[in-house]
Amino acid sequence: MSEPAWPAPPEGRCDLPAVLDTEIAIVGAGIHGAALARELTLRGIACALVDRGEVGGGTSQWSSQLLHGGIRYLLTGDIRQMREGLAERATWSRIAPRRCRWEAFWMPHRSWPEGLAHRLGIGLYDHWGAERPGWPPELRLGGVPPSTFQADPRSAGGPFRGATAYADLMTWDRELTRDLAASSEALRLDFHDVASFEDTAGELHRAVLRDRRDGATRRLSARRWVFALGPWTDGAMAGWFGEDRKRLRLSSGIHLWFDAVPGCERPWAIRRPKGRILFVIPRDGLLQVGTTEREVGDGWVPILEAEREELFDALAANLPAIPWRSLPLRAEELGVRPLVAASGLTTHLSREAVLERHARFGNLTLVLGGKLTTARALMDRLATGLTGRACPTSRTAPLRVWDGQPEGIR
Ligand SMILES: Cc1cc2nc3c(=O)[nH]c(=O)nc-3n(C[C@H](O)[C@H](O)[C@H](O)COP(=O)(O)OP(=O)(O)OC[C@H]3O[C@@H](n4cnc5c(N)ncnc54)[C@H](O)[C@@H]3O)c2cc1C
Repeated sequence: MSEPAWPAPPEGRCDLPAVLDTEIAIVGAGIHGAALARELTLRGIACALVDRGEVGGGTSQWSSQLLHGGIRYLLTGDIRQMREGLAERATWSRIAPRRCRWEAFWMPHRSWPEGLAHRLGIGLYDHWGAERPGWPPELRLGGVPPSTFQADPRSAGGPFRGATAYADLMTWDRELTRDLAASSEALRLDFHDVASFEDTAGELHRAVLRDRRDGATRRLSARRWVFALGPWTDGAMAGWFGEDRKRLRLSSGIHLWFDAVPGCERPWAIRRPKGRILFVIPRDGLLQVGTTEREVGDGWVPILEAEREELFDALAANLPAIPWRSLPLRAEELGVRPLVAASGLTTHLSREAVLERHARFGNLTLVLGGKLTTARALMDRLATGLTGRACPTSRTAPLRVWDGQPEGIR
């Protein structure tokens, strides 16, 4: 995405020497790059983690922050992806207990047949996702008692007659990404731009990096390369290698952060047309509302007034008792989902990830698409493929907490 809008680096400098050498160089320090750095460290392989911004400073700080099976896959029928997400949810809650919080999400229904359908679908979801280490016993799943439902201000005056509760895991996305990086021994080259690459005989050898803080040049050599550039992949491949192939479709989503509303205790997941879900999630003393879906091109994209209005309209139609437009709006954020290219509406595109071996450079792999939830599993597979070594402890070794603080703080 375009240079002028890239956040300025902080003051400070990097003490690394001008010439660096490593086994595997990872460019892009979002959840995928950081997870791969941990996987390689667990396998005893030297690596470097390069980013033109800070670790976790891209899409991995603008998600809905759910480590989930994807309740919407019940509608799209992508059961394999759902089951993988449910299994990974349990893994995250084991390795990152301080960045995870189990919740009972309420899915409200408009009629009894819809309620019955939710009960059946959610029953399956919670059955397949029965492994929930650390589940708080006070959280109740299944049918929400009418008196409890009616005590929530979101139920008043709206179209909903009741709700069914299902289990999912909430996280703090940026903090989780930073914990993954902190759980690695990677050479950290954040705030470094790639000025150019050197290659010979179909292999990448070296990147010439420019430290954005003081302009210093560093040369990084590596035997293998992985680009985990999220939605910036196509732009970077065009800039570095003149490739015009579009590997990704990009879809923006926004979240609005309101002051907390008294009585809104459990997160709600409201089904919307076209398989979308409207989340209304109390967290960190605020109420997080999202998300939208708008196909976008390359570049930093602003939040459109129409996009914000769409969320406000959905809130007014579904939860009319709360005066959304007069509630203090504390923050709004926009993230761009990197979706693996295909035809059709982005709402129906899979959040699946692809590992692409580059056609011209045999020692380069591109990470395309994906989501927070499955990033560890995908990078576990990639690290096994790159090194020939499996590492079962990836699923059990606790993460180091990068800031030493007890909970994720935005
Ligand atoms: C609105 C929204 C809601 C979402 N909700 C969820 C959810 O609830 N659960 C879930 O599992 N997933 C969710 N996702 C998906 C998830 O957030 C992303 O798939 C994931 O964060 C992508 O991570 P990444 O590492 O691939 O990319 P990124 O986090 O974007 O990392 C890419 C990195 O590359 C760096 N970079 C870019 N260009 C260069 C360059 N030229 N040189 C060096 N570095 C560069 C960037 O600075 C960035 O740090 C959501 C996504 C969005 C947008």
